Amino acid sequence: MPSDALLSVRDLRIAFDGVEAVRGLSFDVRPHEVLALVGESGAGKSLTARALLGMLPRGATTSGTILPDLSAHRGRRISLVPQDALSALSPVHRVGDQLAAAVRSVARVSRTEARARAVAALDRVGIPDAARRARAYPHEYSGGMRQRAVIAMATVAGPGIVVADEPTTALDEEHRDQVLRVLAERREAVGAALVLVTHDMDVVRDHADRVLVMYAGRLTELGPAHEVLDRPRAPYTAGLLASLPQHAPPGRRLPALRGTPPAPGALPPGCAFAPRCPLAADICRTADPEPQRVEGRLVACHRWPELPHPATRLFQSQSQSQSRGRGRGREHGPGQEEERQPV
Ligand code: SF4
Repeated sequence: MPSDALLSVRDLRIAFDGVEAVRGLSFDVRPHEVLALVGESGAGKSLTARALLGMLPRGATTSGTILPDLSAHRGRRISLVPQDALSALSPVHRVGDQLAAAVRSVARVSRTEARARAVAALDRVGIPDAARRARAYPHEYSGGMRQRAVIAMATVAGPGIVVADEPTTALDEEHRDQVLRVLAERREAVGAALVLVTHDMDVVRDHADRVLVMYAGRLTELGPAHEVLDRPRAPYTAGLLASLPQHAPPGRRLPALRGTPPAPGALPPGCAFAPRCPLAADICRTADPEPQRVEGRLVACHRWPELPHPATRLFQSQSQSQSRGRGRGREHGPGQEEERQPV
């Protein structure tokens, strides 16, 4: 394990009934950093995040190493901010009582002291009138308040690592920014590293130090967030970025990644991205690329030096040729339009 890592993951594999959903993933989590895990649904982001906490679904088998093993220290040294705050909170207990229980699970304090710490934690995440709100039930909170209460619960013991699994997916833009701000403040206050699972590249740009791009259970690109976003070296990263509205050429369709990711049990031979990749060549269809060091990052692509700059052009021209095909209208019958996967 590298001396500058809080947590080190090596060759992590997660399978269900012998089918691998995460395939040989290696990365480190460094002190105080925000590491974003991005990729489309099914890329293995959430499974990877939950593996860090030892919270994989029943039936999952794993191999590889995660060091140190923090699964016995959940809440104390590593904690989870889940996507769905409502299901993370018990509906039949007051929010303050749940937070006080979380405090007492990691610290030997009286009920009165635990309750005072719970109210203080709610106050710190911006819950108005925290003492009164602590007596309310989760259904009496708004969605944004519930998510902030869960962040308070996840950070109340000052863990070294906070894992946030799509913490803003269910929120509108205003609450999304509020929750991310609270998460960043709490992370700073307790000096934690944050592993942030997200599909939102704007969140990555605004909040992440490094980004790990995943596709079909594997690492595609890993490096400093701004460098990866400004100049991606893997076609898949470029495809994700090309699908953002700001990359839409004026008056043209929004470029989008063609097709959908393969199911874990139905991977194509070679690079799993090959059927969707405009750069795919013969080697891509026979050999799965291993991550290699490229300019201070890791890139898994046989043809990364051939990516144009800006790399998003690759998908814009793909999108235009698809539009022309549809414009002719005779190659594709009704209902046969190629499936597109917005990101
Ligand atoms: S290895 Fe080939 S198919 Fe895979 S991303 Fe690179 S160019 Fe595309």
